[in-house]
Amino acid sequence: MEVKILSAKFDLEDGHKLEIAKQHGAYGTLDKLFAMKPEEVIEEVKASGLRGRGGAGFPAGVKWGFLPKGTGKPVYLAVNSDESEPATFKDRYILVKDPHMMIEGIIICSYAIGSHDTYIYIRGEYTSQVKALQAAIDEAYEAGYLGDKVAGHDFKLEVTVHRGAGAYVCGEETGLLESIEGKKGQPRAKPPFPAVSGLYGCPTIINNVQSIASLPFILEKGAEAYKAYGTEKSSGTHLFGISGHVEKPGMYELPLGLPLLEVVEKVAGGVWKGRTLKGVIPGGSSTPVLTPDEAKTVTLDYESMAEHKTMFGSGGIVVLDETVDMVKLVENLIYFYHHESCGQCTPCREGLGWMLKIIKKVVRGEGEMSDINLLLELCDNIEMKTVCVLSAACTMPVRSYLVKFRDEFDAYVSEDISTAAANQE
Ligand code: SF4
Repeated sequence: MEVKILSAKFDLEDGHKLEIAKQHGAYGTLDKLFAMKPEEVIEEVKASGLRGRGGAGFPAGVKWGFLPKGTGKPVYLAVNSDESEPATFKDRYILVKDPHMMIEGIIICSYAIGSHDTYIYIRGEYTSQVKALQAAIDEAYEAGYLGDKVAGHDFKLEVTVHRGAGAYVCGEETGLLESIEGKKGQPRAKPPFPAVSGLYGCPTIINNVQSIASLPFILEKGAEAYKAYGTEKSSGTHLFGISGHVEKPGMYELPLGLPLLEVVEKVAGGVWKGRTLKGVIPGGSSTPVLTPDEAKTVTLDYESMAEHKTMFGSGGIVVLDETVDMVKLVENLIYFYHHESCGQCTPCREGLGWMLKIIKKVVRGEGEMSDINLLLELCDNIEMKTVCVLSAACTMPVRSYLVKFRDEFDAYVSEDISTAAANQE
């Protein structure tokens, strides 16, 4: 089931070093790139069907097409390497194991969109990744792949690494831009969208690490070769991070469209310790949970996830076994998103705080039945009434647990459990 496109050089000794990466094809697309017109590159990427791999799944080539023409302003590329969504650990592999693949992708994207300045925004905690990435960028400058004349062609490109300070909200694209500008990482109201007014008020394209790293393959082999993997609307491969209660957790590159449970069984070794499956988080903590019945019919692509009223997200799959206490899981989830709220919107700042107080009361055994309904009501009242989607990243999954595992929440507020919890204290 596994394929090796993005991960082709991951197993090489020193594959992150330019010398080894070049022996295995790194920067091999540049002559072809500069022989093409920028719009031809955009058309090739559009034809490949590549969708943004950061979570939203928006078609990459279409996004590039939103850039206004002839503004006289510089165009910026920002590479989102924040990767802060809990259960997501794919981009870090690219940054450490094959950073030159991403740098080559940056050159391809920059040429296509007419940008000469790239900022790579990387999460603060990624210490070893920053080190590996910066070393690769230094090598690329030294070898002439970056700088005044990229690979000897009449194209200038500067790349700067910008370290974040560990805020989840800076993975939101306008929070990320604010942070690069040296301000508090607080998302902007949209419109205008970054393609029109992004970094320093200039047209800006923001793409995820994996999206950018997919470009060398697309340019080298062509859109059709990329589309040979995946489904009609969800083409290509994806680095899936599989964690939780499986025998073989890890990062696996797979074509899109495979049945979720088959992947859990055949790739990740199945639910660990012979236990029973209780649920699956399909794409990072902000995606609504799937029950075992739903997991039986869902496939790993954007369309199937939407049909099952959840999201493909970042490809961070978490398998939950029968021992998981869904009420405590929800407490953990609300705690995280409340902690990460930037605080500028009242429904997010206050609402998630209220939700946290209520779920804590329930976990302590002091809750009432009306508290569970109140949590659902809060989800409805907070969602989509804020500047960015962080609040929804909390309410959407929380609602899914409340609805799909309602019995567990009810049990916490029933007479018996409340009394038992009180007696324990
Ligand atoms: Fe900040 Fe939350 Fe509003 Fe997003 S929704 S801008 S994180 S307060």
